[in-house]
Amino acid sequence: MAASPPRPPLRLLTLALALTVASAVKISAPHTPISRDIYHSSDSLLDEIKALVARHSDKLSMDAVKTSNKGYSAELFVVTFNHMKESVDNGSKVHILLSFGQHGRELITSEVALRLLYILTEKRKIAGVDLSSFERVLENLVIKVVPMENLNGRKRVEEGELCDRRNGRGVDLNRNWSVDWGKKEKDYDPYEENPGIAPFSEPEAQIMRELSRSFKPHIWVNVHSGMEALFMPYDHKNTTPNGASAHLMRSVLENLNHRHFQDSCLVGSGGGSVGYLAHGTTTDYMHDIAKVPMPFTFEIYGDEKASTDDCFKMFNPVDKTTFDVRKSSLHVPTIFFVALFLSDNHCFCQHSTESHQQVVHGISHTF
Ligand SMILES: [Zn+2]
Repeated sequence: MAASPPRPPLRLLTLALALTVASAVKISAPHTPISRDIYHSSDSLLDEIKALVARHSDKLSMDAVKTSNKGYSAELFVVTFNHMKESVDNGSKVHILLSFGQHGRELITSEVALRLLYILTEKRKIAGVDLSSFERVLENLVIKVVPMENLNGRKRVEEGELCDRRNGRGVDLNRNWSVDWGKKEKDYDPYEENPGIAPFSEPEAQIMRELSRSFKPHIWVNVHSGMEALFMPYDHKNTTPNGASAHLMRSVLENLNHRHFQDSCLVGSGGGSVGYLAHGTTTDYMHDIAKVPMPFTFEIYGDEKASTDDCFKMFNPVDKTTFDVRKSSLHVPTIFFVALFLSDNHCFCQHSTESHQQVVHGISHTF
């Protein structure tokens, strides 16, 4: 009878098991959860916006727009700021369209939207900015804010899918637009960039397209997170458009970067700066098809040291100090139009009734 191998003592087995578990934990570090104490839920954010609109019905209004396609429906809330809205024709004002939360996992952007609405109505303090002529400037603007463009996708994130940026049925809303739609790069990842079955297949993109048609913005800003950058077209190629408008756009961004961000942001075309080409994006459509004079994509925060699968941390500040800084003093869209319209050389009034191109020309004089 052959001798059976000696059995390892139980304690050794337990130790080996413990070491195995420990190394597994080390390989797959726990993901940072949503900081519920500093971030709103989508429902509470919406409630707070509704309350703000109710308190300032002379300046703010809110529309809920709902549409569906092939059994999938989406609802977008659009807040309109229009100072003295009863008495002034919108056609004479500069139109600014701002979208936040197009990607579900970028929660910080919707917090910035809320902060912006407070600045427009109640809490008019921005570090280092003279707001003495704020009222006069605001009289000449109509600002439409879409605080959560991808509400269905965001709800998936809130339920635990922290890395998902797509809409409620898995389409990337920033790839569902018609300019160069559907082209796939070698490193195409459907989890990140699924463009949908056709341009504008998604209700959210349809609603935003209709908004761009009816509102006719002079300035469009698509606010994202994941890095710190100020982008202009194009996203689908690594060049910028030709002509005076493009020159002005770049000039605006470079001045903004220099004045407010110590030249820390990437500036230029999305496709030329971000390291990959993106096809079917909203900003390229706003430029090529909607003919918005100044279309931008702002990336307002990114933690480059975060593990790539630790998505909440990578796309959103996780501590209150950084959160407050991002939300307030580095509030990119706010600083953006404050910089545009409150500078000493500002000549907004003379240009407020001119064509889109002349508005762009007027903006150029602010720098
Ligand atoms: Zn994004």
